[in-house]
Amino acid sequence: MSKDTPPLFAPPLFNRVAFIGIGLIGSSLARVMRRDRLAGHITVTARTQATLDKVVELDLADHVTADPVEAVTDADLIMICTPLGAYAAVARSIGAHLKPGAIVSDVGSAKKCVFRDLAPHLADGVHLVPGHPVAGTEHSGPEAGFAELFKDRFCILTPTAGTDADAVARITALWRAAGMKVEAMDADHHDQVLAITSHLPHLIAYTIVDTAAQLGDDLQQEIFKYSASGFRDFTRIAASDPVMWRDIFVENKDAVLDILGRFDEDLTTLKRAIRQGDGQTLEDVFTRTRAVRREIIDAKQHTPEDQKS
Ligand code: NAP
Repeated sequence: MSKDTPPLFAPPLFNRVAFIGIGLIGSSLARVMRRDRLAGHITVTARTQATLDKVVELDLADHVTADPVEAVTDADLIMICTPLGAYAAVARSIGAHLKPGAIVSDVGSAKKCVFRDLAPHLADGVHLVPGHPVAGTEHSGPEAGFAELFKDRFCILTPTAGTDADAVARITALWRAAGMKVEAMDADHHDQVLAITSHLPHLIAYTIVDTAAQLGDDLQQEIFKYSASGFRDFTRIAASDPVMWRDIFVENKDAVLDILGRFDEDLTTLKRAIRQGDGQTLEDVFTRTRAVRREIIDAKQHTPEDQKS
């Protein structure tokens, strides 16, 4: 298969699709599938009845069930859209009930842990094609989703050398239909890249907002009043789902600690420059960072809200 000429699949791309978990990301993908008729039949399972009721109300599925086994039986594509911490239990419950040839994929924000948690529970004829649509907002739940979420953003797939090529091509076609630019890389590399581009920035935002939240009452009033001077942007990021982000830091521990070590050193350099009145070092760093912003704009990866992953 040439890189530039993706294979054409007769519609629908998947006859039967099962979503395990359907919040912001899963519901956005279900909306794309509905819009473009990419799935012959969609079954959704989630943890709570409230979410299943919402899925029915939003008409995102042909069938909903609280039973994951019922959801995946006969499914051609099983798309896992839960927080990462739920993967192992999900795999344990559905693994023995997948049909030969089924594709298991996901949208999780870390990828090495997907092989650890899913692969041992999948039979030989089942194809695992992990994925990460690098797009998101700070909102959660099926009502927060929208089909355009993925448009012009990157989706990273992390198949192994032995992954079935047809399964990879189908998942590629799915995310392309959602408007994404699809790239493949090693799971380890993915986790290192996302540690710096997404996970560390979230950790910094959580830290700044928590530091502010613990200041005295007088100062807190002022913080809210003057938040437009930079703090407000951090509060948007730090409003992201606590469970999802707890799982990301637990599951991508090594890569995050590695980049935090580098960050610590660079922060110390800036601290020293401030203490010593070394304006030149500060100006040099700030000039370099301005150029990075320019590169992101040139690559068309900025948005009014500067979406997350
Ligand atoms: P979300 O809106 O919070 O939705 C999570 C879904 O998973 C809900 O349907 C929830 O069901 C279900 N769920 C939660 N815990 C479960 C469990 N233990 N067992 C079974 N189902 C469970 O989450 P999201 O933002 O769509 O994120 C989902 C995945 O996408 C995460 O792995 C995240 O890393 C990845 N991701 C997120 C973003 C982002 O910006 N949000 C971007 C890219 C990738 P109930 O509603 O019934 O509890």
